[in-house]
Formats: sequence, C-alpha cells, structure tokens
Amino acid sequence: MSLKEELTALKEEALKKISEISSSESLERIRVEFLGKKGKLKNILKTLGKLEPEQRKEIGKLANSIKEFIEEKLKEKEKQLKEKTLQEKLEKERLDITLPSFWHDIGASHPVMSTLVEISEIFLSMGFSIEEGPEVEYEEYNFDMLNIPKDHPARDMQDTFFLNNGMLLRTHTSPVQIRTMLKNKPPIAIIAPGRVYRKDADPTHSPMFHQIEGLMVDKDITFKDLKGILKIFLENIFGKDIPIRFRPSYFPFTEPSAEVDIGCTVCGGKGCRVCKETGWLEILGCGMVDPNVFEAVGIDPDEYSGFAFGLGIERIAMLRYQITDIRILFENNMRFNQQFKGIR
Ligand SMILES: [Zn+2]
Repeated sequence: MSLKEELTALKEEALKKISEISSSESLERIRVEFLGKKGKLKNILKTLGKLEPEQRKEIGKLANSIKEFIEEKLKEKEKQLKEKTLQEKLEKERLDITLPSFWHDIGASHPVMSTLVEISEIFLSMGFSIEEGPEVEYEEYNFDMLNIPKDHPARDMQDTFFLNNGMLLRTHTSPVQIRTMLKNKPPIAIIAPGRVYRKDADPTHSPMFHQIEGLMVDKDITFKDLKGILKIFLENIFGKDIPIRFRPSYFPFTEPSAEVDIGCTVCGGKGCRVCKETGWLEILGCGMVDPNVFEAVGIDPDEYSGFAFGLGIERIAMLRYQITDIRILFENNMRFNQQFKGIR
C-alpha cells in the first residue's frame, strides 16, 4: 500500500470512528489514537524522509489536509456531544411545577384564638383597651376584693385549684379588674382576655378555658350603657338580627346582675337539644359593679359607677363552628385544626 493509500485509509478509519463516538472520553481517546505524538498519522509519516522531495511535498500536503480534516470532524463531534449532554441534563433535571410541593401546609388559626381576637377587636373599636394579669393569683384578688367573703357559697361553687403557697389558679379573669382599678383611676374601659381554671371536666366544661371580661367605670355609667355595648358586641358576632334578652341573676361582684341570652343559633328559637328546648342560649353574665367592690379598690361609689361582663371564649367558638364537645378544642388534632385554615 502506498503512503497515499495509507493516508486515505486512515482518513476513512478516523471518519468512521469519530461518527461512532458517544462520549467526551472516547473523543479524547480517538484524538490521541490518530493525531497524538505516537498516533497513527505520525506513524505513517515516519517514512516520509525516504521519499523524493517532490513526493514528500505532495504527501506532506495531503497529510496536513487529513490532519485538519480529522481535527475539524473531532471539533464538530465535540460540539454535538456538548449539546447532547446539555439536552440530557435538561431532560433529567426538568422541574415539574405542577407537582405538589413538599412544604408543610400553612398553619390555621385555632378557633379559640380567632374567636378571642375577633371579640377583642370589637371592643377595641369601641374604645376599650386590653389588660392582662397573672394566672396564678392571690385569693384576695380572685375572691375577697370581688365581694366574695371566705364563707360565701360562691367560693365553694367555684371549685378552685388552690396551690400549696396559699395562692390559686384564677377561676375567672375578674382579678384583672381589681388590679386595673387599683392601678388606674376612672375613667376605665378595659377588656381582660385570658386562661382561667376550674375543677370541672365534661363535654361542655374544661378545667382550663378562656374568658374575656369587660369593665367600664366612669361618672354616670348606667345599665343602659351596658345594654348598648353588649348589643353592639353580640350583633357583631352573631349577626344584626340575633334576638337578645337580659334575665335577672346574681353575682357577688355586681348589683344588679343579669344573664344575657341570645336566640338559639342552631334551631332559630324553635327549641332543640343544644338550647334544651328553650329556644335561648345563655351567652354571658353581667351587671353593675357592686359598691363593695369599688370600696375595696378605693373608688368612691357615690362618685363613680360602672358595669362589668364576662363570657367564655370556648362557648362562643363552639356555637359559631357548631362544635359539640369542648375537649376537641384542646386535643391538638391536626385534622380538626386544619379545617379552620383561612377562617377567622
Ligand atoms: Zn335550639
């Protein structure tokens, strides 16, 4: 085989091998095999020196063009491979934006908290401010100063958690009223939301629950003011057409006292199990601050008057969301809690 034929064969061999290349590693291997220092082209040209100058020139030219040709083909192949790799990478790493994400769901506001916030906002809009107090309370603030003497049956009725140090877990948020009146002089308009504790546990009672109380003290505050404020509050929570009635009642810390009922939200007043066939639901207790309470905190009952009211947050939440067992509010069951996502 002449050198010319050898070179032509080499060119064809290289072309074939390049077309079969499928990775950048074999690309490099082929480059070395044909164009390397010990490669096939160099090998063929070893005998170039033995040729006549004229022939040498011709073969040299041919060898050069073959070398350039192979380099060109390798470059083309390299470009193809790069494109192919990129394409494969894009395919493999393609993001499917329609897949559900792995992130956890956004939390939901607990019905007790969202109800508490909503009630608070209604009173804040009427000029009340929020006061807070400790959950571990003095007996004096929880009972004595609220006109509940040591031997008063109300104190037994409360079923209190007493602590070893003589203090207690507050049975209502009323001690916040005492603390506020000791601290501030009238005019006073506050609400006191918070946790309270009683030895009580059944489907409608929990040993820990939330109350919100209100207190307004100023000159010439009357029962009419109390009725007006509570009417606005109840209509905001239960709707403009909700029937409201005041029933005479008794609390040691208010005189006169009343319980407030609303028309049953379940049966619309016809009578059902929830309203015990009465058509009415007891919703809160209220009254005019007893003069004895004013005297205990150093406010002159001849100069000032005021009203107070209190209600259970859980009761309102249960009525709003038609929850029949209070205990489910405290079980931290995600399936229950998630239902309130987006509701407030
Ligand atoms: Zn009913």
